[in-house]
Amino acid sequence: MAPDTLSPPPAAEPAITLVDVVKYFDGAGARDTAVVRGVDLSIGEGEFFSLLGPSGCGKTTTLRMIAGFEEPTSGQILLHGRDMVGVPANKRDINMVFQSYALFPHLSVADNVAFGLRRKRVPKDEIRDRVEKILHTVELADKADRRPRQLSGGQQQRVALARALVNRPRALLLDEPLGALDLKLRQSMQLELKRIQREVGITFIYVTHDQAEALTMSDRIAVMNNGLVEQVAPPREVYERPATAFVAGFIGTSNLIGGRLTSVDGDGGTVDLGDGQRLAVPIEDKDHRAGARVEMTVRPEKITLTTGPADTASRVRGTVREVVYLGTSTSYTVDTDAGVEMTVFQPNDGTALVFPERGDTVWLSWAAGHSYLLSTAPAAADTAPVSLTSR
Ligand code: ATP
Repeated sequence: MAPDTLSPPPAAEPAITLVDVVKYFDGAGARDTAVVRGVDLSIGEGEFFSLLGPSGCGKTTTLRMIAGFEEPTSGQILLHGRDMVGVPANKRDINMVFQSYALFPHLSVADNVAFGLRRKRVPKDEIRDRVEKILHTVELADKADRRPRQLSGGQQQRVALARALVNRPRALLLDEPLGALDLKLRQSMQLELKRIQREVGITFIYVTHDQAEALTMSDRIAVMNNGLVEQVAPPREVYERPATAFVAGFIGTSNLIGGRLTSVDGDGGTVDLGDGQRLAVPIEDKDHRAGARVEMTVRPEKITLTTGPADTASRVRGTVREVVYLGTSTSYTVDTDAGVEMTVFQPNDGTALVFPERGDTVWLSWAAGHSYLLSTAPAAADTAPVSLTSR
């Protein structure tokens, strides 16, 4: 792994810390059946941090516990070092933005944004200055007098954001805030949100099930599955070095390949597949001896197609089953001779070496640095026949 792909250490004083947080809704049952099953997180001051996972994995519940709308069944939530369990939501110095904007239809944009400050009896001049400044930040200064219905969905969401940011919370929690927008608007709002976050310097915790969205905006991503966090890392690391099979499959397209190590040499191992086919496997601990079962991942765009075996660390042979033209690349589904299906993306920029069609025999080759070990079983004494799996 290149040093620049390592997770940055969290800031000296984390803004938000979760320690073994568990949540059941029915009040009974084992930890295994909880909605959140023991989550540990440390979120840095000023970080753009995303909770990413499929529907029902517990990300909204985790966010609501940080906000104070739900109490954990057990575990600790610390905001700037202070234990928040039992502290009501309105005393937590954090704000939340939802998918539904919930703006007051009869108030102007400026009055919607000023609403909370007026209730807190902030002096008039200060309200005017703060509203003006934040509307400028969200690029709505020229729409201050409009009513919400006179704005687009993206503009309304920016009003909701301004209304939260004008309170100068120490952290802002966002629950799928772009969910109601169409794809194009969503993509431009992602960049906009990132810019605003950088400008205001407030910690953002962002819940989404959209992996592209999380990759675009986040400093770090926590990938959740079934009430647990499976990996916390910067976007590049989550994509390039997924820690588990779930992360590899959830973020982008991935090939999962497994087999028994036939030889180990230093920090590298080999799964010999016969007929000149082989997998080079990075070895990270001493449990990996010959005979140990390993599972690894390789991304489709890291694989090169050739007609014969290439001189690369990993190579397998197969038959092309499907060819799909995707504009910037072409996707090939290949049934490998070892019995697993693999996906390969070849760029359509003139660098591809071959242009196979359905039914053609091809070799799939990739460099040692593009295989990542996912999970292992204890070293096995036997050298059972190699088998492969792929998803
Ligand atoms: P989505 O993206 O669909 O919102 P999520 O990952 O945010 O999903 P949560 O909303 O945290 O998931 O829900 C996790 C699980 O907890 C779900 O199975 C949900 O049905 C359940 N759940 C959430 N809130 C409650 C509640 N108040 N009472 C009972 N069960 C709940």
